[in-house]
Amino acid sequence: MSRKQTTVIYGGGLAGLSLGISLRQRNVPVELHEAGTYPRHRVCGEFIAGAGKPLFEELGIATALEDALSLETTVWHCGRRQVLSKRLPSPVTSISRYTLDDRLSQLFQEKGGVLHCGSRVKEDSVRHEGSVWATGRRPPNQDSSGKGWIGLKCHASGLTLKSDLEFYFGRNGYLGISPISKNRFNICGLFRVNRRLLGTKQNLFNRYLEDNGLRHLVPRMEEAQVDPESWCAVAGLDYRNGPPETAGLRIGDQFGLIAPLTGNGMSIAFESAALAAPFIESWASHKRSWQEAIRAIHDTQTKAFAKRKQFGKLLQVFLLNPCGQSLLRLLCATHILPFKTLYSLTHQV
Ligand SMILES: Cc1cc2nc3c(=O)[nH]c(=O)nc-3n(C[C@H](O)[C@H](O)[C@H](O)COP(=O)(O)OP(=O)(O)OC[C@H]3O[C@@H](n4cnc5c(N)ncnc54)[C@H](O)[C@@H]3O)c2cc1C
Repeated sequence: MSRKQTTVIYGGGLAGLSLGISLRQRNVPVELHEAGTYPRHRVCGEFIAGAGKPLFEELGIATALEDALSLETTVWHCGRRQVLSKRLPSPVTSISRYTLDDRLSQLFQEKGGVLHCGSRVKEDSVRHEGSVWATGRRPPNQDSSGKGWIGLKCHASGLTLKSDLEFYFGRNGYLGISPISKNRFNICGLFRVNRRLLGTKQNLFNRYLEDNGLRHLVPRMEEAQVDPESWCAVAGLDYRNGPPETAGLRIGDQFGLIAPLTGNGMSIAFESAALAAPFIESWASHKRSWQEAIRAIHDTQTKAFAKRKQFGKLLQVFLLNPCGQSLLRLLCATHILPFKTLYSLTHQV
């Protein structure tokens, strides 16, 4: 029997690394090109709502998440006012991306994967079969400039939380705070870009909080002991979804984004890797063509994620504007917010 064909993955985030590890478990030769290096901080809420231990074991990544925290409760605020306090329908996994991505990159290499860091590959330079694009979110369309989002995050200690996952919804964005390890917390915000707001990442954080009616959180941010190395920001986020414009196999955020406040993007990255691995293995073993594999993987991802992404987008619109928040306050005050239904529409249940 002829040797298995090599898969080349572009992008070493969660989707690319977990696919690489899963393929190595299936004895498929894998090379991975990552534009950056490990470890590094990334803008992310760092809680995984959806995928859990069974999927981590299937992918061969469970050891990297062994000491992750399990979060069980959430509180939501509209501005200053707490409107909801709930037990989550199922616990979510919390871990620093700085740690997780680094561990996965090591695991990939231990399993025989070939990793090229600092290797940013241009899409038009690659046309061969067996190429997988796991390069994260696609750049926003030109006509969406100015309507995008900015994500800001840092790690801090010295905070006391009312609940495992605290959310603060503002006029045009939100802030989430959650523990990622003993006495270390992730603070992550997503805000509509306001081009008038300028400054360092730290100043921007405070300015966006003020701009969003969340000024009361500024002293709390200032009292926390923030790890100065952990500040990071990402701009130009565009949460419109659609099929990829050009040919080629795409997984994770490359295939389309889910609204971050669902905490389901990392889960989708892992799930898309698990969905793709058997089809890629069968191409690598000369049992199906590359075009058939791409079609099957894209169809399977659409079936698995389209509904979640649509509802996630609606939920984001609902929660991040003043009218939606008035309705949210009313639904919470009268105890008729269908929390479990909203959760099941935006996550795999
Ligand atoms: C503000 C915010 C908060 C979020 N909070 C959460 C949360 O709490 N929970 C959750 O589950 N999800 C959250 N997400 C979403 C989550 O971060 C993503 O869905 C997830 O990281 C997607 O993984 P990925 O591997 O597809 O892409 P990424 O993690 O973005 O990885 C893509 C990789 O590709 C590399 N790359 C890019 N271009 C090239 C190139 N040309 N050549 C080589 N390498 C390249 C990049 O360096 C990067 O390492 C959040 C997102 C944002 C913006």
